[in-house]
Amino acid sequence: MDELKRLADAEMFKDETRFFAYNYSTGDPFVKKIGQEAYDLFVDKNALDFTVFPSAIYFEKKLAALATSWMRGSESTVGVFTSGGTESLLLAVLAAREHYRAQGKTGTPEIIAPETIHPSLIKAAFYFGMRVRKTPIGSDGRALIEPLIESLSDETALIALSAPNWAYGTIDPIAEIAPEAARCQVPVHVDACLGGMFLPFARMNGLPIADFDFSIAGVSSISMDFHKYGYTPKGASMVLFKDFDYASRTTYVNTQTPGYVLVNRGVQSSKSVGHLAAAYAVICYIGTEGYREYAQKIGKTAEAIRQGFSSMGFRSATPSEDIVLTFYHPEIEIVHLALNLKKRGWILHLLKANSGPGIPACIHLTINPIHQKSANQFLHDIERSLKEDSGFNTELLRADPADLVKKLAESSIDPLLLPVLLEAVPDIDADTHIRRVVNLWFKP
Ligand SMILES: *Cc1c(COP(=O)(O)O)cnc(C)c1O
Repeated sequence: MDELKRLADAEMFKDETRFFAYNYSTGDPFVKKIGQEAYDLFVDKNALDFTVFPSAIYFEKKLAALATSWMRGSESTVGVFTSGGTESLLLAVLAAREHYRAQGKTGTPEIIAPETIHPSLIKAAFYFGMRVRKTPIGSDGRALIEPLIESLSDETALIALSAPNWAYGTIDPIAEIAPEAARCQVPVHVDACLGGMFLPFARMNGLPIADFDFSIAGVSSISMDFHKYGYTPKGASMVLFKDFDYASRTTYVNTQTPGYVLVNRGVQSSKSVGHLAAAYAVICYIGTEGYREYAQKIGKTAEAIRQGFSSMGFRSATPSEDIVLTFYHPEIEIVHLALNLKKRGWILHLLKANSGPGIPACIHLTINPIHQKSANQFLHDIERSLKEDSGFNTELLRADPADLVKKLAESSIDPLLLPVLLEAVPDIDADTHIRRVVNLWFKP
């Protein structure tokens, strides 16, 4: 325990008010406490066998009912609790592949998605032997309808859209695309991992949120993370399927073994019921009213931050839902700004320029209720950071790839800069280089 305590103390970033990435927090200490207590009560119960541990069924049913109501599903909607957005997307993609095969098709099943689709979906295609065809977005960060529809073919197994996408925080034109997909009998997945626990409540508050859920005919599945804007401990997400037949394609059953009968609705087998208990407890504690209040807080904070940035000459890279803000400055190198802010303890992301739709390189913030406390200090630190040189040698932006990877491996350049550096070195075989660096970092 001493070793653990030393490690926890040595974490560079502890102040949640300063995270504009990775962390989703309400600022209410009870939210965290309830999640921990609930987890503790069920930590040693195994969701592998829900006939022995029926609490696993209880929690999953309750969570599926809530998720279904928020996503405006029906009696036939089926929900599967998963470990996170990635697992939810894996199941959604698997359902589409099995649906494709059930139609007797033998080609390589293809997923059509705008370039803003989360990379976890592309990872799912990699795992399941599928292909992804990316289609362009407009300067507002949303999928362009025509090129997407024109890409439909006999080999299309799935169209995947976001509500909203992580990069720009924009909701794709789902209501415009889904009917066309339905006409061609192609399922549509809506990735609401980021927005699923925010958008319904923002809409209840009267915000004009575009339809994105099962209220649109043609939407076959939706992924939504509890561990993002549901503020539950990490390890909690849900994938919803429009009906039982589509959902059951992902349920894995194996009776043909000398061992136990294996029945998995998700990717994992043995897992703690604690994850389900913690998610259920936190979601009940906050409740619909609580989520509506948090959505309102996020909206107010986003507005204050937008105004602050605007008065310093920044512009939004695209319009967005309040949970994601992206800013660039026509005269300032954001690389210096981000490094200066990191020195002051602020965690955020940099996005590279996207030349297709003409979206400039920008800083990326995910807004949480807790930022209400820190927004003023943040704006103040931005103002101070604007005038400072970060000491970063921008020549590195033109460095040769091997040198860049070497510097990354030695930790002599900040990984925060990675997206921008990669953009500046276009022919780098980036994935291969990074695979090597990362495996070196984890070498015992
Ligand atoms: C976070 C996120 C994911 C992946 O979720 P994990 O929980 O990190 O696996 C997928 N899609 C979107 C839009 C996300 O924001």
